[in-house]
Amino acid sequence: MFLGTKGGPRVEIGRSNPANLIEINGTRIVLDCGMGVSRQLAEAKVPLTSVKYILISHHHSDHNLEYGNLVYNAWVSGLSTPIHSFGPNGLEEMTKTYWELNKFDVDTRIADEGRPNPRPLLIAKDIVADGEFLKTDEFTITAFRTPHPPITDNFAYKFTTPDGVIVFSSDTEYNPKLAEFAKGADVLVHEALFAPFVEKLVARVKNGATLGKHLMASHTTAQDVGKIASAAGVKLLVLSHLVPGDIDVTDDQWIAAVRENYSGRVSVAKDLMELVLPVKP
Ligand SMILES: [Zn+2]
Ligand SMILES: [Zn+2]
Repeated sequence: MFLGTKGGPRVEIGRSNPANLIEINGTRIVLDCGMGVSRQLAEAKVPLTSVKYILISHHHSDHNLEYGNLVYNAWVSGLSTPIHSFGPNGLEEMTKTYWELNKFDVDTRIADEGRPNPRPLLIAKDIVADGEFLKTDEFTITAFRTPHPPITDNFAYKFTTPDGVIVFSSDTEYNPKLAEFAKGADVLVHEALFAPFVEKLVARVKNGATLGKHLMASHTTAQDVGKIASAAGVKLLVLSHLVPGDIDVTDDQWIAAVRENYSGRVSVAKDLMELVLPVKP
């Protein structure tokens, strides 16, 4: 399920910031914790205490700002089983400092409300290299480093499940190697930038010129996403992490841009949209 589909750190009405829920035979995995992830899970009627894994793709705030708070929110809802989290370098440190930041409240609630200590319930692990980092009887998850200038500690993730393979691109510059990583996957969820609107987007802020440069250099235009999907030969392409996600770009405009280089199935993600594997022919 797509919980938040707008790229970028601004919190506004409309699309929520990046977050996804992947459910494999009842195991719930949250991928990215943009602001609003707890609220979106509540909207989707998914108990926060049922989350087993959290993955962070990279340490931009639209992907990690609610990381600690999601676990905190699960804890005050009665979390009793551990959550394992994985992400690029810095996740373990962030986990430690999160509990320091919230020491007063957490210790108060343990003593005053009789809650268990939440710290052992969040087990963080930094991913240091490409490859498989999580394997259960039912699925494996593989990481693939992709450049998102100036960030290099940034991972696309592939979920290999009994019902099919789904790949999430993370934020990324146009990277043809992602097509190899996603080769033959059932679904590719790729970030997308609508280039004609970048000017409109940056006109709103003081740091416009620099922001415009960042957007063009470190994200992938919808046209280039089409190239990746064609080369990967996926059954379904889904655009999510839309930039801009808060100025109206219609689905038709997104799809027309992708179509310049891709003739397969494509859809534009919406918040709380569900996608079920295997994808129907
Ligand atoms: Zn982002
Ligand atoms: Zn980013």
